[in-house]
Amino acid sequence: MTRERRRASHGDEPGPGATGPASDGAGRHVDPDALAEDAVAVVARWLTEAHSSETPTERRSTDRMRAIIADPGGIGFTMRFVDRVARHRQDVLAAEQLVRLVTDRDLPGFLGRMDRLMLQAGARLAPALPRLVMPLARRRLRQLVGHMVVDAAPGPMHDHLARRRTDGYDMNVNLLGEAVLGEGEASRRFERTLELIRDPAVDYVSVKVSAIASQLNMWAFDHTLERIKDRLRALYRAAAATPTEAGRTTFVNLDMEEHRDLEVTLRAFMELLDEPDLKGLEAGIVLQAYLPDAFGALQRITAWAGARSSTGGGDVKVRLVKGANLGMERVDAAMHGWVQAPYGTKAEVDANYKRCVDWALRPIHARSVRIGLASHNLFGRGTRRGRQGGVRDAPGHGAVPGPRGPGRGWGPAPLHADSGTR
Ligand SMILES: Cc1cc2nc3c(=O)[nH]c(=O)nc-3n(C[C@H](O)[C@H](O)[C@H](O)COP(=O)(O)OP(=O)(O)OC[C@H]3O[C@@H](n4cnc5c(N)ncnc54)[C@H](O)[C@@H]3O)c2cc1C
Repeated sequence: MTRERRRASHGDEPGPGATGPASDGAGRHVDPDALAEDAVAVVARWLTEAHSSETPTERRSTDRMRAIIADPGGIGFTMRFVDRVARHRQDVLAAEQLVRLVTDRDLPGFLGRMDRLMLQAGARLAPALPRLVMPLARRRLRQLVGHMVVDAAPGPMHDHLARRRTDGYDMNVNLLGEAVLGEGEASRRFERTLELIRDPAVDYVSVKVSAIASQLNMWAFDHTLERIKDRLRALYRAAAATPTEAGRTTFVNLDMEEHRDLEVTLRAFMELLDEPDLKGLEAGIVLQAYLPDAFGALQRITAWAGARSSTGGGDVKVRLVKGANLGMERVDAAMHGWVQAPYGTKAEVDANYKRCVDWALRPIHARSVRIGLASHNLFGRGTRRGRQGGVRDAPGHGAVPGPRGPGRGWGPAPLHADSGTR
């Protein structure tokens, strides 16, 4: 996207200060310093409470997670181990990958001396004794990062979902993976997502349009929109037709990937949910605040959702995130000689996020859409709590679980599960 387009999409909207960040929805003055102090106090309380209720096992896994994240090679090594070694079904091929992983580069420091020795010994023995060594290597990895990994096969996944539900968590399940290139892969992902929606144990599924429809071409916008709608319609219809174990319809949430997909995803979402047989369906969509276009999109969805609900339509949820694909947007812009679609600084991204939240939580807007706040930034979330005066229900909070929750899947189709407030 060019800067001109970006400015144009932004030009007819009030700037981040214009909607009055220093006043609340009822026009009362809000002191920004007091708001910041309030946020710090809220976060301090959350952290104290979280630490005080931690069991020794949870503390150990938190420490391990901290070590993996703090180690520059930690996440890369863990992901390579999970993707190349642990998920391989064939021990002989997995053994080859283990040898490469151990010999290609230095082992990361988060692994203790004993683990490093065991990995080196394992890599020597694995080519000769793959059936003995590989199950042991996988078992050790599960001990190390098992709290972040869920087996995607139906049995273990159902056990996991049931356990988390008993712990009081709502689970949002989505198939991991980036945008697909080929139609074969898009069809497989579509079928797999359909299976998840039809599974009564799963009551919340997230999906990206770029994962279920291949070759999205915006030069053929109408054609692309129709292709996406055909796939999404089938998912929405399955959701409407299959009650979950809790007796509700499965909640389908549209995640966002590239800026390119924003308009087509918005249009597909609103047009499908206006179709007579889907009018009552409850569903959600993500908006990325690092895009200047997010605020206008939020206003469009809110106006449309208000009109839909006033004519008997189902609830609509908007999950506000900052945006996860800055690197990819930058590369795309550089390759085409464009100005990047997302804002250029973190401060602008943060300001736009707060602006969207501030606007969405005003009682008059909060009546039309439910807002979910998905962020790992506790201070931002704490601020929003301070800001939501006058709104009847607290917004849903979502986080990709860290030490205490699942993250990546082992199975043939990896799953990403996070706390999924509908
Ligand atoms: C439940 C859940 C669902 C999610 N779903 C999606 C989704 O569908 N689509 C999606 O894109 N993301 C999604 N995310 C990820 C989300 O967008 C954030 O990237 C991630 O949570 C980190 O943001 P933060 O608010 O936690 O952190 P913060 O650290 O406060 O902010 C990180 C943000 O700042 C931006 N930023 C940092 N430096 C710069 C810079 N120099 N210039 C410009 N921007 C900068 C980053 O791009 C990122 O957007 C989801 C997250 C959760 C928890």
